[in-house]
Order: sequence, then structure tokens, then C-alpha cells
Amino acid sequence: MNLKLYNTLTRKKEIFKPINKNNVGMYVCGPTIYNYVHIGNLRAYTFADILKRYLKFKNYRVKEVMNLTDVDDKTIRDSQKQGKSLKEFTKEYEKGFLEDIKNMNIEMPEVMPTATEHIKEMVEIVKNLLKKKIAYKTNDGIYFSIKKFKKYGKLSKTKIKKLKAGASERMLKDEYDKDNVNDFALWKFYTKEDGDVFWDTEIGKGRPGWHIECSAMSMKYLGQSFDIHTGGTDLIFPHHENEIAQSEAHTGKKFVKYWLHNEWILVDGRKMSKSLGNFYNLRDIIEKDYSAMELRYFYLTKIYNQKLNFTWMGLKASKISYQRLKNIISTIKDDKKINKKYISEFEDAMEDNLNTPKALQVLWRLVRDEKAIGKLRTIKKIDEVFGLKLLETEEIKIPTDILEIVKEREVARAKKNWKKADALREVLKKEGYAVDDTDKGSVVGKL
Ligand SMILES: [Zn+2]
Repeated sequence: MNLKLYNTLTRKKEIFKPINKNNVGMYVCGPTIYNYVHIGNLRAYTFADILKRYLKFKNYRVKEVMNLTDVDDKTIRDSQKQGKSLKEFTKEYEKGFLEDIKNMNIEMPEVMPTATEHIKEMVEIVKNLLKKKIAYKTNDGIYFSIKKFKKYGKLSKTKIKKLKAGASERMLKDEYDKDNVNDFALWKFYTKEDGDVFWDTEIGKGRPGWHIECSAMSMKYLGQSFDIHTGGTDLIFPHHENEIAQSEAHTGKKFVKYWLHNEWILVDGRKMSKSLGNFYNLRDIIEKDYSAMELRYFYLTKIYNQKLNFTWMGLKASKISYQRLKNIISTIKDDKKINKKYISEFEDAMEDNLNTPKALQVLWRLVRDEKAIGKLRTIKKIDEVFGLKLLETEEIKIPTDILEIVKEREVARAKKNWKKADALREVLKKEGYAVDDTDKGSVVGKL
């Protein structure tokens, strides 16, 4: 079997083959720490985590780098609004982000660099691009000349020719769309709007553009060419396109072999936006009595590069499935074996571009297979990838009156009185409990 991943660069599923034997270098575009991350961002980090865990499951040695963007247009703007220093402001959201990834059971990256600690590396790249005459100076900053990099547009399939008539030739802002393909800022000269945020460097007093940050941090820790770069589809243009241009123009080498992008999260079928009031973060989810693991399960119900529609009903369905799964698993006894058949079915699903919904089905079939051997250890192995904490049991206290109903239902089932058994199941459901029939009797859990 071969792991196949959808590479945005070629628009194809490709067999994954690392540059350096068993070692995988992987860069994850991390958060801009100016706010708590929303459920769309969390999907991106959960996807990267599943990918990393699966690579480790396949015995690769993975080095993951995830950056924290602690200086850009947004962090400066919002720190000033709150009257805080940039550092004081970003520290708070850095802390929030670390809590979120811990709650989501996302493994800590091997390296988590911040942009403000890598200004020197950024300046080195800009200096070299100036020397090569691929970058040039203007009165407001240093820009990358996209016409000097022939492959510009290869990731996003953007054509330079499509430059909008009348569009300016340069883009100082970090974020813009394809209608504004332009030379982009590598370095922004100081203006008084930047307040006390600046660095006095050989290329002038100012601050880096957002795109150069990721090029500098990724290459520092993973080398000039590395295996995997991930992010949301919204980062393909301009962020990742510009990363490729800067890095490859700087080194003359291919920057990244596999570009993997996760799709959007929609909320009730619509794009998430603050104006629609459908913008959720993990704190909002937990406030409504859902756990981070239930959200993680919800993410796994769709392949990462397909759009995922978030609804509260959908999350509730995931909550019920997740609780059931855990309840049943809590009754399974260890027989010190691994079930190779199910492991291989699990791998088949995962090797097809990380098809987690299919892999979840394999897990459910295993859990319900009364004749399967090695169930517990196989589930444990699968959960090394899913990261759902399936074997962790919390104390669930079931009131005695509920247990009475469960017992009554077992008696009805023993007498093959299915009608009564179904009616009692409904009673339990109304009380907020789910019951599952396993080979070892009924298992009851909270809905
Ligand atoms: Zn990035």
C-alpha cells in the first residue's frame, strides 16, 4: 500500500515519498495571534495533526514546524485599538491558542517559532533578493518583482497577464485577492501608524511583510527544500504563492514537494463571518456543552479537503456517536492481540488521501464485530491516529431509576419482546440516555 495525498501543486493525488528516506519535514501555517482561533482554523490544525499522526503510525520520523504570526497588519492594528504593546497583546492569544490545541488533543509541533524572533533570517533573504535584483526598493517598502520569477502563479494557477486594468503595480497590504495580483511587500518601511513596532536593520527601519515570515521560519528549521506544507485553501493565494516565489528565487531550489490544503468550514451552509454572527471558537462550543473531542470527531466525519458544513444538529449527532463509541469500547476486554485485517482496512482508508470518514466506518465495524479478536489493542492503535481519547474513561454516574429501566429492557429483550424493548429505549432517550446492545449485554451512556 502507498499513502496517496492530494497535492495542490499538481492538482493530483500523488504517492507520498519523502525527500530524505524516512524523515519527513512538515510546515504548518500557524495562527495569527490577534484573536482566539475559530472552528475553521481548528479544522486546519486538526487535519495537520491527523496527517502527522498517520505518518508516525507508518513509522516516519516527523519534524513539524508550526509558526505563530505575532507581527503583521492585523496584530498591530488590534493591539493599538486595545492600547496594549504588541507583545502584551499577542501573548494573551498565544496562551489561548496553546490551550485550544491541548484541548483538541493536537500534538505539540517539534518547533513553534514566532515571527518577531526571526527578523534576522527574514532580512537575510530580502538582502539576497535585492542583490539578485528580484526585489527592489520604493519609498514605502521593499517589493518582490513577480515578473522576475517565471513560475509565479504555479500553485494558485494565477496568470500575471490577468492583472486588472488600472490596478496598482504594488501591494503593501498582507492580504489581497487574485484580482490584485501584484508585486508584494517583503519589507515595509516604518510609518507613524506602526507606533513602537519596528526593527532597525540593514535594509531599513521597518517590519516584515507577512509572507516572508513563513519562508524564513520554514527554511530555518526544515532546510531549503522540504516535504510537506499545509494550510487552509484561503492561504493558497497570495500567501503560499508568495512563499514559493520568495523562497525559490532566494535558493534556486524547489521549496516544497507536497502542498496540502484543507477546505472551508461553512456554518449552516454559509460562509463564516462576524457580520452573520456565525463565527465560533472552541470556547463557544464548550459553553454549549460540547467537548473538544466531540468537535474532533465531527471534523473526522469529512475528508479534510472537502467543505464541511457545521450545524449544531450535526455536532449533536457527532456527540451521540462519540459517546456511544466510548461506551461500547469501555466494555471490551483486552486479549493482547492486534487484528491485522481491521488495521489493514483502516490503512486502506487512510492511504486514500486521509479518508477519515471511511476509516471511522472501519472502526465502527470493528467495535460491533462480535467475532473479531484483538479489538481493544486494535482500537488503541487506530486511536493513535484519530487522537479521540477513545480509551480514556470518565466516571459516568447513571442514576438507579435509569438502571432500573435498562434492566427492564434487558428482560424484555431476553423474552424477544422487541416492541417493549424499543419503547423503553425511547423512554431512556427522553431521559437523555442512550443504550447499546453488545455481546456482553446492554451498555448505557449519556446522550
Ligand atoms: Zn504562513
